[in-house]
Amino acid sequence: MEKESAVLLMFTGGTISMSEDPATGALRPIDFNRLQEYMPELKRTGIRIKSVPFLPLLDSSDVYPPVWERIALLIQENYEEYDGFVVLHGTDTMAYTASALSFMLENLSKPVIFTGAQLPIGMTRSDAKENLITAIEIATANENGQPIVPEVCIFFEDNLFRANRTTKKNAEHFSAFNSYNYPPLAKAGVHIKFFRSYIHYPSPGTALCVRTKIDQNVAILKLFPGITEHTVNAILNIPGLKAVVLESFGAGNAPRQTWFFNSLKNATERGILIANKTQCSTGSVEMGRYETSLNLMSAGVISAYDSTTEAIVTKLMYLLGQYENIDDIKHRLSISMCGEMTVI
Ligand code: ASP
Repeated sequence: MEKESAVLLMFTGGTISMSEDPATGALRPIDFNRLQEYMPELKRTGIRIKSVPFLPLLDSSDVYPPVWERIALLIQENYEEYDGFVVLHGTDTMAYTASALSFMLENLSKPVIFTGAQLPIGMTRSDAKENLITAIEIATANENGQPIVPEVCIFFEDNLFRANRTTKKNAEHFSAFNSYNYPPLAKAGVHIKFFRSYIHYPSPGTALCVRTKIDQNVAILKLFPGITEHTVNAILNIPGLKAVVLESFGAGNAPRQTWFFNSLKNATERGILIANKTQCSTGSVEMGRYETSLNLMSAGVISAYDSTTEAIVTKLMYLLGQYENIDDIKHRLSISMCGEMTVI
Protein backbone atom coordinates (compact mmCIF):
# COMPACT_ATOMS: atom_id res chain seq x y z
CA MET A 1 0.00 0.00 0.00
CA GLU A 2 1.27 3.51 -0.84
CA LYS A 3 2.30 5.65 2.11
CA GLU A 4 -0.21 8.40 2.96
CA SER A 5 1.12 11.88 2.05
CA ALA A 6 1.30 14.47 4.79
CA VAL A 7 1.36 18.27 4.71
CA LEU A 8 1.93 20.80 7.46
CA LEU A 9 -0.32 23.79 6.80
CA MET A 10 0.65 27.05 8.48
CA PHE A 11 -1.91 29.85 8.67
CA THR A 12 -0.28 33.21 9.21
CA GLY A 13 -3.33 35.29 8.21
CA GLY A 14 -4.26 37.51 5.29
CA THR A 15 -7.50 37.62 3.34
CA ILE A 16 -7.45 33.86 2.79
CA SER A 17 -8.18 33.19 6.45
CA MET A 18 -11.18 35.49 6.67
CA SER A 19 -14.92 35.10 6.43
CA GLU A 20 -17.77 37.61 6.34
CA ASP A 21 -19.66 38.06 9.59
CA PRO A 22 -23.26 37.33 8.53
CA ALA A 23 -24.58 40.00 10.92
CA THR A 24 -22.29 42.91 10.11
CA GLY A 25 -20.74 41.99 6.77
CA ALA A 26 -17.27 42.77 8.20
CA LEU A 27 -14.34 40.44 7.53
CA ARG A 28 -13.05 38.47 10.50
CA PRO A 29 -10.69 35.48 10.91
CA ILE A 30 -12.30 32.05 10.52
CA ASP A 31 -12.37 29.51 13.31
CA PHE A 32 -9.74 26.93 12.43
CA ASN A 33 -11.60 24.08 14.04
CA ARG A 34 -14.21 24.66 11.34
CA LEU A 35 -11.78 24.70 8.40
CA GLN A 36 -13.19 21.42 7.08
CA GLU A 37 -16.65 23.05 6.97
CA TYR A 38 -15.36 25.77 4.68
CA MET A 39 -13.42 23.27 2.64
CA PRO A 40 -14.89 19.75 2.66
CA GLU A 41 -12.63 19.14 -0.37
CA LEU A 42 -9.65 18.94 1.99
CA LYS A 43 -10.83 15.53 3.25
CA ARG A 44 -11.23 14.22 -0.27
CA THR A 45 -7.57 14.90 -1.11
CA GLY A 46 -6.66 11.79 0.92
CA ILE A 47 -3.70 13.77 2.27
CA ARG A 48 -3.02 13.97 6.02
CA ILE A 49 -3.09 17.70 6.80
CA LYS A 50 -2.10 19.22 10.09
CA SER A 51 -2.97 22.92 10.43
CA VAL A 52 -1.07 25.30 12.66
CA PRO A 53 -2.64 28.74 13.11
CA PHE A 54 -0.30 31.58 14.04
CA LEU A 55 -2.48 33.46 16.50
CA PRO A 56 -3.34 36.27 16.30
CA LEU A 57 -3.64 36.04 12.53
CA LEU A 58 -1.83 38.87 10.82
CA ASP A 59 -2.52 41.08 7.89
CA SER A 60 0.71 40.60 5.99
CA SER A 61 1.61 44.29 6.38
CA ASP A 62 2.28 43.34 10.00
CA VAL A 63 4.44 40.32 9.20
CA TYR A 64 7.96 40.94 10.48
CA PRO A 65 11.19 38.91 10.53
CA PRO A 66 10.18 37.08 13.78
CA VAL A 67 7.29 35.54 11.78
CA TRP A 68 9.76 34.45 9.07
CA GLU A 69 11.82 32.84 11.80
CA ARG A 70 8.79 31.07 13.25
CA ILE A 71 7.90 29.57 9.87
CA ALA A 72 11.50 28.43 9.32
CA LEU A 73 11.75 26.82 12.76
CA LEU A 74 8.41 25.02 12.38
CA ILE A 75 9.61 23.57 9.09
CA GLN A 76 12.85 22.49 10.74
CA GLU A 77 11.06 20.83 13.68
CA ASN A 78 8.62 18.97 11.42
CA TYR A 79 10.91 18.34 8.47
CA GLU A 80 11.06 14.55 8.72
CA GLU A 81 7.38 14.03 9.46
CA TYR A 82 5.86 15.84 6.45
CA ASP A 83 6.27 15.51 2.69
CA GLY A 84 5.72 19.20 2.13
CA PHE A 85 4.76 22.50 3.74
CA VAL A 86 2.09 25.01 2.78
CA VAL A 87 2.06 28.53 4.18
CA LEU A 88 -1.11 30.63 3.98
CA HIS A 89 -0.13 34.27 4.01
CA GLY A 90 -1.54 37.67 3.06
CA THR A 91 -0.63 38.54 -0.49
CA ASP A 92 0.74 42.03 0.21
CA THR A 93 4.12 40.95 1.62
CA MET A 94 4.05 37.29 0.69
CA ALA A 95 6.94 37.71 -1.76
CA TYR A 96 9.13 39.16 1.03
CA THR A 97 8.40 36.35 3.51
CA ALA A 98 8.78 33.65 0.87
CA SER A 99 12.03 35.18 -0.44
CA ALA A 100 13.42 35.37 3.11
CA LEU A 101 12.55 31.70 3.67
CA SER A 102 14.35 30.72 0.47
CA PHE A 103 17.58 32.05 2.01
CA MET A 104 16.92 30.72 5.53
CA LEU A 105 16.25 27.12 4.40
CA GLU A 106 19.61 26.06 3.00
CA ASN A 107 19.74 22.70 1.15
CA LEU A 108 15.96 22.45 1.14
CA SER A 109 14.84 19.15 -0.39
CA LYS A 110 11.07 19.37 0.24
CA PRO A 111 8.42 21.73 -1.17
CA VAL A 112 7.48 24.87 0.77
CA ILE A 113 4.52 26.43 -1.04
CA PHE A 114 3.12 29.85 -0.13
CA THR A 115 -0.35 30.79 -1.20
CA GLY A 116 -3.19 33.16 -0.27
CA ALA A 117 -6.29 34.63 -1.83
CA GLN A 118 -7.70 37.88 -3.12
CA LEU A 119 -11.16 37.04 -1.66
CA PRO A 120 -11.76 35.50 1.80
CA ILE A 121 -12.15 31.73 2.06
CA GLY A 122 -15.72 32.15 3.34
CA MET A 123 -16.94 34.07 0.25
CA THR A 124 -18.70 32.37 -2.63
CA ARG A 125 -16.42 33.64 -5.42
CA SER A 126 -13.26 33.17 -3.40
CA ASP A 127 -10.07 32.01 -5.10
CA ALA A 128 -8.94 30.54 -1.76
CA LYS A 129 -10.09 26.98 -2.29
CA GLU A 130 -8.43 26.45 -5.63
CA ASN A 131 -5.21 28.09 -4.52
CA LEU A 132 -5.06 26.06 -1.32
CA ILE A 133 -5.98 22.67 -2.80
CA THR A 134 -3.50 23.06 -5.66
CA ALA A 135 -0.77 24.26 -3.30
CA ILE A 136 -1.34 21.12 -1.19
CA GLU A 137 -1.18 18.92 -4.29
CA ILE A 138 2.07 20.55 -5.37
CA ALA A 139 3.53 20.19 -1.87
CA THR A 140 2.98 16.44 -2.06
CA ALA A 141 3.72 15.89 -5.76
CA ASN A 142 6.45 13.30 -6.11
CA GLU A 143 8.02 10.97 -8.57
CA ASN A 144 9.47 7.70 -7.31
CA GLY A 145 9.21 9.08 -3.80
CA GLN A 146 11.19 12.23 -4.65
CA PRO A 147 9.47 15.65 -4.39
CA ILE A 148 8.99 17.26 -7.80
CA VAL A 149 9.46 20.84 -6.55
CA PRO A 150 11.91 20.93 -3.61
CA GLU A 151 11.93 24.73 -3.51
CA VAL A 152 10.28 27.65 -1.72
CA CYS A 153 7.56 28.74 -4.15
CA ILE A 154 4.49 30.92 -4.49
CA PHE A 155 1.43 29.33 -6.06
CA PHE A 156 -1.32 31.69 -7.19
CA GLU A 157 -4.19 31.27 -9.63
CA ASP A 158 -2.50 28.95 -12.09
CA ASN A 159 1.19 29.65 -11.76
CA LEU A 160 3.85 28.19 -9.54
CA PHE A 161 6.75 30.62 -9.26
CA ARG A 162 10.12 30.43 -7.53
CA ALA A 163 9.51 32.54 -4.41
CA ASN A 164 12.58 34.73 -4.68
CA ARG A 165 11.68 35.67 -8.28
CA THR A 166 8.13 36.69 -7.47
CA THR A 167 6.48 40.09 -7.04
CA LYS A 168 2.90 41.09 -6.25
CA LYS A 169 1.71 42.81 -9.41
CA ASN A 170 -2.03 43.29 -8.97
CA ALA A 171 -4.14 44.38 -6.00
CA GLU A 172 -7.39 43.23 -7.55
CA HIS A 173 -7.11 40.41 -10.07
CA PHE A 174 -6.96 36.75 -9.09
CA SER A 175 -3.70 36.59 -10.99
CA ALA A 176 -1.89 38.68 -8.36
CA PHE A 177 1.75 37.67 -8.83
CA ASN A 178 4.36 37.46 -11.52
CA SER A 179 7.90 36.31 -11.94
CA TYR A 180 9.23 38.72 -14.54
CA ASN A 181 12.74 37.38 -14.92
CA TYR A 182 12.32 33.63 -14.48
CA PRO A 183 9.80 31.24 -16.04
CA PRO A 184 7.10 29.53 -13.94
CA LEU A 185 8.05 26.20 -12.39
CA ALA A 186 4.60 24.77 -13.06
CA LYS A 187 1.23 25.68 -14.59
CA ALA A 188 -2.02 24.36 -13.15
CA GLY A 189 -4.84 23.72 -15.59
CA VAL A 190 -6.70 20.46 -16.07
CA HIS A 191 -3.38 18.89 -15.07
CA ILE A 192 -0.48 20.37 -13.17
CA LYS A 193 2.37 20.64 -15.64
CA PHE A 194 5.83 20.88 -14.07
CA PHE A 195 8.71 22.45 -16.00
CA ARG A 196 11.52 20.43 -14.53
CA SER A 197 14.39 22.08 -16.33
CA TYR A 198 13.62 25.29 -14.41
CA ILE A 199 13.33 23.61 -11.01
CA HIS A 200 16.37 23.51 -8.74
CA TYR A 201 17.27 20.11 -7.26
CA PRO A 202 19.68 19.98 -4.30
CA SER A 203 22.73 17.72 -4.43
CA PRO A 204 21.81 14.33 -2.96
CA GLY A 205 22.70 13.73 0.67
CA THR A 206 22.82 17.39 1.74
CA ALA A 207 21.02 18.06 5.01
CA LEU A 208 18.65 20.97 5.64
CA CYS A 209 20.40 23.81 7.45
CA VAL A 210 18.14 26.49 8.92
CA ARG A 211 19.66 29.91 9.59
CA THR A 212 17.23 32.47 10.90
CA LYS A 213 19.35 35.37 12.10
CA ILE A 214 18.35 38.60 10.35
CA ASP A 215 19.74 42.13 10.50
CA GLN A 216 17.10 44.72 9.61
CA ASN A 217 19.48 47.66 9.10
CA VAL A 218 18.68 47.90 5.42
CA ALA A 219 17.07 50.77 3.46
CA ILE A 220 15.78 51.35 -0.06
CA LEU A 221 16.86 54.46 -1.93
CA LYS A 222 14.61 54.92 -4.96
CA LEU A 223 15.93 57.44 -7.44
CA PHE A 224 13.75 59.90 -9.32
CA PRO A 225 14.66 62.87 -11.50
CA GLY A 226 15.11 65.81 -9.14
CA ILE A 227 16.05 63.84 -6.03
CA THR A 228 18.04 66.15 -3.76
CA GLU A 229 21.43 65.75 -2.13
CA HIS A 230 19.68 66.25 1.18
CA THR A 231 17.36 63.28 0.65
CA VAL A 232 20.14 60.98 -0.54
CA ASN A 233 22.38 61.93 2.38
CA ALA A 234 19.55 61.59 4.89
CA ILE A 235 19.12 57.97 3.85
CA LEU A 236 22.81 57.13 3.60
CA ASN A 237 23.40 58.56 7.08
CA ILE A 238 20.65 56.68 8.93
CA PRO A 239 22.23 55.62 12.24
CA GLY A 240 23.16 51.93 12.23
CA LEU A 241 22.54 51.55 8.49
CA LYS A 242 24.48 48.63 6.97
CA ALA A 243 23.09 48.18 3.46
CA VAL A 244 21.08 50.06 0.85
CA VAL A 245 19.17 48.86 -2.17
CA LEU A 246 19.64 51.58 -4.77
CA GLU A 247 16.67 51.47 -7.12
CA SER A 248 18.19 52.90 -10.27
CA PHE A 249 16.93 53.71 -13.77
CA GLY A 250 16.85 51.28 -16.71
CA ALA A 251 19.90 49.06 -16.96
CA GLY A 252 21.22 50.36 -13.61
CA ASN A 253 21.79 54.05 -14.35
CA ALA A 254 21.95 57.05 -12.00
CA PRO A 255 22.63 60.81 -12.17
CA ARG A 256 26.23 61.80 -12.89
CA GLN A 257 26.32 64.79 -10.53
CA THR A 258 29.46 64.98 -8.43
CA TRP A 259 27.54 65.26 -5.14
CA PHE A 260 25.74 62.00 -5.89
CA PHE A 261 28.97 60.14 -6.62
CA ASN A 262 30.61 61.58 -3.49
CA SER A 263 27.67 60.60 -1.27
CA LEU A 264 27.70 57.00 -2.50
CA LYS A 265 31.48 56.71 -2.32
CA ASN A 266 31.51 58.11 1.17
CA ALA A 267 28.90 55.55 2.23
CA THR A 268 30.71 52.54 0.75
CA GLU A 269 33.95 53.74 2.36
CA ARG A 270 32.12 53.71 5.70
CA GLY A 271 31.34 50.01 5.05
CA ILE A 272 27.76 50.46 3.85
CA LEU A 273 26.87 47.95 1.14
CA ILE A 274 25.01 49.41 -1.83
CA ALA A 275 23.26 47.02 -4.20
CA ASN A 276 22.10 48.34 -7.55
CA LYS A 277 18.65 47.11 -8.58
CA THR A 278 16.75 48.43 -11.58
CA GLN A 279 13.32 50.05 -11.20
CA CYS A 280 12.20 48.07 -14.27
CA SER A 281 10.30 44.86 -13.55
CA THR A 282 11.95 42.97 -16.38
CA GLY A 283 15.63 42.89 -17.33
CA SER A 284 18.90 43.27 -15.52
CA VAL A 285 21.34 45.85 -14.22
CA GLU A 286 24.38 46.03 -16.50
CA MET A 287 26.83 48.33 -14.82
CA GLY A 288 29.19 49.95 -17.27
CA ARG A 289 26.87 49.68 -20.28
CA TYR A 290 26.08 53.39 -20.08
CA GLU A 291 28.32 56.16 -18.79
CA THR A 292 25.63 56.85 -16.19
CA SER A 293 26.45 53.60 -14.40
CA LEU A 294 30.26 53.71 -14.71
CA ASN A 295 30.35 56.11 -11.77
CA LEU A 296 28.42 53.68 -9.63
CA MET A 297 31.07 51.03 -10.16
CA SER A 298 33.82 53.38 -9.08
CA ALA A 299 31.77 54.38 -6.04
CA GLY A 300 31.84 50.73 -4.93
CA VAL A 301 28.23 49.85 -5.78
CA ILE A 302 27.47 46.14 -6.36
CA SER A 303 25.12 44.85 -9.06
CA ALA A 304 21.95 43.05 -8.00
CA TYR A 305 21.49 41.98 -11.66
CA ASP A 306 17.83 40.98 -12.21
CA SER A 307 16.87 40.50 -8.54
CA THR A 308 13.43 41.54 -7.34
CA THR A 309 13.32 44.18 -4.60
CA GLU A 310 11.85 41.52 -2.28
CA ALA A 311 14.76 39.16 -2.94
CA ILE A 312 17.57 41.70 -2.62
CA VAL A 313 16.16 43.29 0.56
CA THR A 314 15.75 39.92 2.30
CA LYS A 315 19.07 38.62 0.95
CA LEU A 316 20.84 41.63 2.48
CA MET A 317 19.02 41.19 5.81
CA TYR A 318 19.94 37.50 5.80
CA LEU A 319 23.60 38.00 4.86
CA LEU A 320 24.07 40.81 7.41
CA GLY A 321 22.56 38.52 10.05
CA GLN A 322 24.86 35.62 9.17
CA TYR A 323 28.25 37.11 8.37
CA GLU A 324 30.40 39.76 10.00
CA ASN A 325 33.11 40.02 7.40
CA ILE A 326 32.08 42.48 4.65
CA ASP A 327 34.04 40.58 1.99
CA ASP A 328 32.10 37.37 2.78
CA ILE A 329 28.88 39.32 2.34
CA LYS A 330 30.06 40.98 -0.88
CA HIS A 331 31.03 37.61 -2.30
CA ARG A 332 27.61 36.11 -1.56
CA LEU A 333 25.90 39.20 -2.94
CA SER A 334 27.66 38.72 -6.24
CA ILE A 335 26.51 35.11 -6.68
CA SER A 336 23.09 33.54 -6.98
CA MET A 337 22.62 31.66 -3.69
CA CYS A 338 19.35 29.88 -4.43
CA GLY A 339 18.29 30.91 -7.91
CA GLU A 340 17.34 34.47 -6.95
CA MET A 341 19.18 36.18 -9.83
CA THR A 342 20.89 35.57 -13.15
CA VAL A 343 24.50 36.74 -13.06
CA ILE A 344 25.57 38.07 -16.45
N1 ASP B 1 -4.02 42.90 3.20
C1 ASP B 1 -4.05 41.47 2.95
C2 ASP B 1 -2.72 40.90 3.42
O1 ASP B 1 -1.74 40.99 2.74
C3 ASP B 1 -4.28 41.20 1.52
C4 ASP B 1 -4.34 39.75 1.15
O2 ASP B 1 -4.24 38.86 1.91
O3 ASP B 1 -4.52 39.51 -0.06
O4 ASP B 1 -2.68 40.39 4.50
